[in-house]
Amino acid sequence: MIQVKNLSTRYARNAPEVLHDVSFGLGEGEIGILLGPNGSGKSTLIQCLLGQMKRAEGEILIGGKPVMEMRTSDRARLLAYVPQTPSFAPSTVYDAVMLGRLPYFAFAPTKEDQDIVETVLVEMSLEHLATRNVLELSGGERQRVAIARALAQQSRILLFDEPTSNLDISAETTIAEMVKALAKKKGLTVLLSMHDINLALGIGDRFLFLKDGHLVSDGDAESVNEKTIESVFGIHAKRVYVEDKTLFIYGGNGDES
Ligand code: ADP
Repeated sequence: MIQVKNLSTRYARNAPEVLHDVSFGLGEGEIGILLGPNGSGKSTLIQCLLGQMKRAEGEILIGGKPVMEMRTSDRARLLAYVPQTPSFAPSTVYDAVMLGRLPYFAFAPTKEDQDIVETVLVEMSLEHLATRNVLELSGGERQRVAIARALAQQSRILLFDEPTSNLDISAETTIAEMVKALAKKKGLTVLLSMHDINLALGIGDRFLFLKDGHLVSDGDAESVNEKTIESVFGIHAKRVYVEDKTLFIYGGNGDES
């Protein structure tokens, strides 16, 4: 579904390159997790996939088609994006989610659009909040509205930029598990960036580590190891097993003996 080949990019003609020769693919129904320190290029990579980086060199194919050559409306039908801090105008939750249908309806929502919105409200456990003002919700609820809006787009690919980083651990876990369950149920391809490696291990199929704009590791849960975490984040990491779950604990800067 997503194929990236030798992608390099920079923000301005004379600015330094921020992604260097990045290549990977993500198949239908796969959940890929982008991991890396702040400034390593996760958001930039997502912006490239959204066709927003004008100076992208290399190839980005979405559903086999070059993303840069797609019309905005075609791209919106293929890809839905949930930013770290979604913005909303004052409106009901229902209307905010209906905005996800904009690539589809010409003048007014049809019965089909209404049915789709009602379904995703249920899927994101938001039906009881449908008439509330979206700006009056908690951060976790608002992030669920943003995901519902993306799901209403009915794209086969969902891109998330640190969707849980502003949330408490309960909302963070709920959202991560909801995303996984829905992606698996609907066979969606998902790429999300996040900081919590242990949460990531619970939901991801593939783990892509970025360091200084280089893709330094790409593989399944087995590929995530102490060495990779230490070299990417510069911290000491130890793998532990708790009730047949693999977890990493961190501490120190990796310099201690
Ligand atoms: P991450 O999402 O991993 O924190 P980013 O993709 O935001 O990393 O940043 C990668 C690099 O690109 C950093 O060096 C950052 O300073 C630079 N960068 C990000 N956004 C811009 C921008 N709008 N203009 C210029 N440089 C940017």
